[in-house]
Amino acid sequence: MSKNHTGPPPQAPYEYAIVIHGGAGTLQKGQLSPEQELEYKAALDSALIVGKTILQNGGSAQEAVVKTIMILEDSPLFNAGKGAVFTHDGTNELDASIMEGSQLKAGAVGGVSIVKNPITAAQAVMNNSPHVMLSGAGADQFAKEQNLTLVEPSYFFTQKNYDRLQNILKREEDERRKKDGQGFLNTLSEDADSKFGTVGCAALDKNGNLAAGTSTGGMTNKRWDRIGDSPIIGAGTYADNRTVAVSCTGHGEYFIRHAVAHDLSARLMYTNQTIYQAADTIININLKEIGALGGLIAIDKYGNVAMPFNTSCMFRGYANNVKHEVKLFKEDE
Ligand code: ASP
Repeated sequence: MSKNHTGPPPQAPYEYAIVIHGGAGTLQKGQLSPEQELEYKAALDSALIVGKTILQNGGSAQEAVVKTIMILEDSPLFNAGKGAVFTHDGTNELDASIMEGSQLKAGAVGGVSIVKNPITAAQAVMNNSPHVMLSGAGADQFAKEQNLTLVEPSYFFTQKNYDRLQNILKREEDERRKKDGQGFLNTLSEDADSKFGTVGCAALDKNGNLAAGTSTGGMTNKRWDRIGDSPIIGAGTYADNRTVAVSCTGHGEYFIRHAVAHDLSARLMYTNQTIYQAADTIININLKEIGALGGLIAIDKYGNVAMPFNTSCMFRGYANNVKHEVKLFKEDE
């Protein structure tokens, strides 16, 4: 088993536990200045503290997941909410999902463009609609009817993400010229130091309920209303009180095809694998073999936490009633 796991031995019962990610990617240690590292760690830490405090005070896993993700969505540092990346057409289309493990209720939105905190729209779909997944203008309209906080699309503009798109478009144009207009262009190409930057959270509350959520701007330069794994229940997010709560990050197309979040739950349901073995097999063997980059965070029903990733970094952190830590790179293990 690789070193990309953490936490206590399996089946240690914790009163509560919370784990978060701020995206996996190919950013190498040293590419961030010490100040930038501190900035990311502080942002992760403040989100973790919000969720941990809710759980400590007896709040629900669902509430902890939503409030924690909202903090990360409000930060321009992550590819979710305020910091969402740009589509090919220069717009921002955001995806989010949530699931709770006591009744297997779930909610998701794909391609919203005026909802300040897409995770709140996913939660509203779960709790206040007969549906699981809404998309595009309809999802925006639903958020409006739910009195969620709306913003102008320009709220999601960040210079850093805009420049990133321009660089990719320029590279594509150069490639196209080279190929003389022939060939298939990689419409989801990321910049060299890319970090996907999606955010996610999983939590176990004192009542033994699990919940998980994921929120993202998707992938820079996405086209044709592309939707990744993040808002897809069973791919980017899953929670079942009998097994695990999980949120994924990485190249969404692979995570959809391998039903990664549900695969982890199924392994815990049908095999004797621990959360560490199961999560590690999926990320560091199965996905790695096919060149699928990414990672996941998960909490099992005992509060054990796994955070495997097959990239050079996954911004991550976890806390329970005895421990609290935040890490960025593989070297930080
Ligand atoms: N999984 C997300 C997507 O494919 C990207 C990410 O995790 O950063 O949309």
